[in-house]
Amino acid sequence: MPQLMQEIKKFYEEAFQIFNGKSQTPEIELRFYPYIGINHTIRIREQKAFIRLAEISRNLPLEAQKALAFILVAKLFRKKVPTQAKETYRHFIKTEEFRQKVDENKRAKGRKIITTSKGDIYDLDEIFRSLNQIYFDGKIPLPVLTWSARKTFRILGHHDSTHETIVVSRSLDARQVPKYVVEFVVFHEMLHIFHPTIHHGGRRYNHTPAFRRNEKQFAYFEEAESWIEQNVKNLKRNAKKINGE
Ligand SMILES: [Zn+2]
Repeated sequence: MPQLMQEIKKFYEEAFQIFNGKSQTPEIELRFYPYIGINHTIRIREQKAFIRLAEISRNLPLEAQKALAFILVAKLFRKKVPTQAKETYRHFIKTEEFRQKVDENKRAKGRKIITTSKGDIYDLDEIFRSLNQIYFDGKIPLPVLTWSARKTFRILGHHDSTHETIVVSRSLDARQVPKYVVEFVVFHEMLHIFHPTIHHGGRRYNHTPAFRRNEKQFAYFEEAESWIEQNVKNLKRNAKKINGE
């Protein structure tokens, strides 16, 4: 792990000791993540803390990194954020130099990323946010959400963990497709983030029994399953027409 990461990690360990004193300090998994703008996420899963800091914050000095660690960990435990930390962090992100970097970053990203989360009918960002609140207590970090370029039908959804991307088949972005079906496909892919692939004995386990149990918690599980079963043939027909396959 590079020097900078090691040092930042120490701030998080320190913050955990302060805000979560009684319990053990969790193992910390820290990464910079290409969020556009200055967003950071922190969550706890199975005694492990997953922290993703906006790529842009790599440019912040250690003093600001420490303040940010205290802010994120305090918020995680719903504790009062120390005024000092708040002020320090704000001071650094308000500097002209940093603001310029953020703007440059947004411009560069804006050129590269074609975000297609808003379909003709359904908005994947909106669906993700509401599912996250209802089923995950808002703890799933926002991945890249996108409709597929083509109207695929064999695969209705796909989660790419390397690029933190959820792709949903554009064939579902249609008025005749009930919203709960799109939600169910997104929900399934979110469960892949919630239950990372287990590697065991050279095999990969994606749909573990725990995964399947959680999947059934979706409020329209049966309706969605049966709709998909009954309509996949139609989706396939439409896809062929449109893609000219
Ligand atoms: Zn799956």
